[in-house]
Amino acid sequence: MFDLQNKVAVITGGNGGIGFGMAQGLATAGARIVIAARNAAKSAAAVELLQSSGAQALAIEVDVTNESSVARLFEQAQSRCGHVDILINNAGINIRKPVQSLALEEWQQVVATNLDSAFLCCRAAYPLMKSAGGGKIINIGSMLSIFGAGFAPAYGASKGGVVQLTKSLASAWAADNIQVNAVLPGWVNTDLTRKARVEVDGLHERVLERTPARRWGEPADFAGTAIFLASAASNFITGVAIPVDGGYSSQA
Ligand code: NAP
Repeated sequence: MFDLQNKVAVITGGNGGIGFGMAQGLATAGARIVIAARNAAKSAAAVELLQSSGAQALAIEVDVTNESSVARLFEQAQSRCGHVDILINNAGINIRKPVQSLALEEWQQVVATNLDSAFLCCRAAYPLMKSAGGGKIINIGSMLSIFGAGFAPAYGASKGGVVQLTKSLASAWAADNIQVNAVLPGWVNTDLTRKARVEVDGLHERVLERTPARRWGEPADFAGTAIFLASAASNFITGVAIPVDGGYSSQA
């Protein structure tokens, strides 16, 4: 039920953080991993780590905000691996400023990286998955898909959009046997949030206080949910957004 042998998984931003945690999870279930990100050295290191634990992995450089770069990613994944069965739209950034200080270019950069990217990658993956008889798409949202935060207006708007896009694609492609779901991480220890802990006063303590599990998440916490949503175990689940948050979103 959870077996991913002979499946190919494209993971945007898979060279670190949550994306790499999911890559490691899918690899343990047998999937061949395509790490898709901009930093070639970081991606090569991620591929090496996966290969050293016996996984099949390769890296393809992509800028997920660029339509032709995304098209090249899926052409190359298809030609090098023969098929694409799983897509994780994980690449993301944040620019932490209140809305009154945010430049239009900054807003656009965040929305392009977090939301336009999911549209572009899903659209490019669709014909490949359809011709393969089905597929699995996992979009990465956030607690800010649910809650607001004064310091992250563009990020919140983009992550809310990711959940609504997930529902639309789930409805559109269910008949093609393509399941589209979202994962909403709580606060997780990655490069992204190491920066946030410096930029947002008292964040570390507030996260511990607000999270019932009383700890930050780790990238490895995402391996199991990734395997579940990428495998036959979730074949009748589509259009949902699953918090992986140590209880953060269930506590008032
Ligand atoms: P991270 O370690 O900074 O990972 C982000 C990844 O996105 C990097 O690997 C980066 O790789 C890639 N990326 C950024 N811009 C890109 C672009 N234009 N094209 C291709 N790849 C790009 O952060 P993370 O915390 O693991 O974040 C992963 C996802 O989880 C994001 O969507 C984030 O919003 C979400 N999330 C994180 C948390 C958390 O607490 N950490 C909470 C909620 C949601 P390159 O620089 O090599 O391109």
